Amino acid sequence: MDFVIGHGVITDGAGFMLHDGAIHISDGVIKKIDTTERLRSVSETFYDLGGRLVLPGLTNFHHHLYSALAAGISPAGPTDTFVQILENLWWKLDMALDEETIYFSALQGVMDSVAHGVTTIFDHHASMNFIRGSLDIIADVFRKAGINGLLCFEMSDRAGNETINDQLQENIEFWEKHRNDRNIKGILGLHANFTLSEKTMEYISKEKPEEMGVHIHCGEDRYDFDYCQKLGYAGPVDRLDKWNLLNEKTILAHAIHLSDRDYELIRDKKPVVVSNPESNANNQVGVMDRKKIQEFVLGTDGMSGDMVQTLRSLYLLGRGHLEDFTGLRELFFDRARSFLQRFFPEKGGLNEGATADIAVLDYTPVTPINLDNLIGHLIFGAKNAHAFMTIANGEIVYHNGEFSFVDADKARKDIKKAARKLWDRFREA
Ligand SMILES: [Zn+2]
Repeated sequence: MDFVIGHGVITDGAGFMLHDGAIHISDGVIKKIDTTERLRSVSETFYDLGGRLVLPGLTNFHHHLYSALAAGISPAGPTDTFVQILENLWWKLDMALDEETIYFSALQGVMDSVAHGVTTIFDHHASMNFIRGSLDIIADVFRKAGINGLLCFEMSDRAGNETINDQLQENIEFWEKHRNDRNIKGILGLHANFTLSEKTMEYISKEKPEEMGVHIHCGEDRYDFDYCQKLGYAGPVDRLDKWNLLNEKTILAHAIHLSDRDYELIRDKKPVVVSNPESNANNQVGVMDRKKIQEFVLGTDGMSGDMVQTLRSLYLLGRGHLEDFTGLRELFFDRARSFLQRFFPEKGGLNEGATADIAVLDYTPVTPINLDNLIGHLIFGAKNAHAFMTIANGEIVYHNGEFSFVDADKARKDIKKAARKLWDRFREA
């Protein structure tokens, strides 16, 4: 594809903002960024963005596509505690997933994400009755959509010890197979400390290839913290460190219930910390201490595909008008780019030569906009906006409500059927 998008407000959120700007995209990369006047005629195809806001493609750093067909479902029992939420909802749901429902959950979740300008998803998958080959099914959806994914299977003792080897091999083989893939990669998924015994941790620590990263829920609830302390560790991060699972390629989701030693380790070993404010509010597990953890990025933890909405939730559930907009801009743009590049070195930039991953929000600023007030525009202006156009790896994958990779009406019919099947299996379980 060779085309120009123009008449947009283009910003990377970090160094530049161009009013009435245009981007020439060809062979998957950004060829040139300049004024619309200069680029208007360099390609035969021109898309008029009508003054809309253009950002680097967004990254969801912690998602569960397998939960995409759960909207409206009733838990199978009480959900008063965090562990009951897992036992009576998520663990039952993941046990009910089969080949077909894994595929359609992923398709629904990917469509929802793409429609919100997301071009990269760090997914954390579970389907304890369909382990081997599950990541390939999800990868097929990513490939079909043309977006980027860091995929893993969440290892846990809860499915029974006899499946642990399958869980580990599913992760390692997928990681190995995608080492040279530019768009889809693997990482080792661990559910959380409190569902992994010492024996399993020892096995994982021994078998995991040295260069392979880890993606884990860490200190999400007090229960996880207490579990690690009972085993004699200072906390959940300390336990990962002792098993040699903590470095810059480690992704820690939540990081709420931690000890001083855990915070110190986060500062020293610099893992990717992902806060999920909407999920934390939903589960009532507390909030991440942003005085102790300043370098973090955002995820939705299966709650939605909308990263701008998630930024707004962080603001509203955090310090509101006392929030520092410069800090939020660093988090949403600079840090998101640098953390993304730990796994996808050539992605995340909005500069000439970079992979063309671009989100055009369906938002036309009518008030003055600059880098200093960009976050205010996202929180108060672009809220609830779908993307107008999403470009992933140089291809337009979503434009004006239409997906390029799927007939949405037909897909929704298939997804509906799969959802009914999944809900029946969930109730029977
Ligand atoms: Zn999660």
